[in-house]
Amino acid sequence: MKDAWYAEGLRFTCVEGCIDCCITHGDHAYVYLEPDDVRRLADHLELNRREFLSRYTVREDEYVMLRMDEPECLFLGEDGCTVYEARPIQCRTFPFWEENLKSRVRWKQLARFCPGIGQGPSHSRELIQIQVQARSRTAVE
Ligand code: SF4
Repeated sequence: MKDAWYAEGLRFTCVEGCIDCCITHGDHAYVYLEPDDVRRLADHLELNRREFLSRYTVREDEYVMLRMDEPECLFLGEDGCTVYEARPIQCRTFPFWEENLKSRVRWKQLARFCPGIGQGPSHSRELIQIQVQARSRTAVE
């Protein structure tokens, strides 16, 4: 089987003060939530599940996403993410998403808005794949 193009690992680090992945960039417009995200965010905001879903999310078929009424995430504050400890798995695993790892070209295109691509420590193929698999894309009931 052909090895992943990133078999030697990929360099990435969050750049201090950067919020670019919390602002829409065309096809990066949605933060999908998994069932665990809904539970964690609702607990963090001291809301019950139903209140959280009705205040902060929209549904698309069986999937639930954070509302994006503005170009930036509704949880983005002046100093960054206001729900950082409880942030969704999609945010935790950025930029190691299946769609971003399809090809070296796709990865390099991310650098147009993400200054951390190609910077900082190298992440091994194994660690990258753990992050890719962390997004189960399970529907929220
Ligand atoms: S939840 Fe937090 S980390 Fe995720 S997009 Fe919104 S502000 Fe950014």
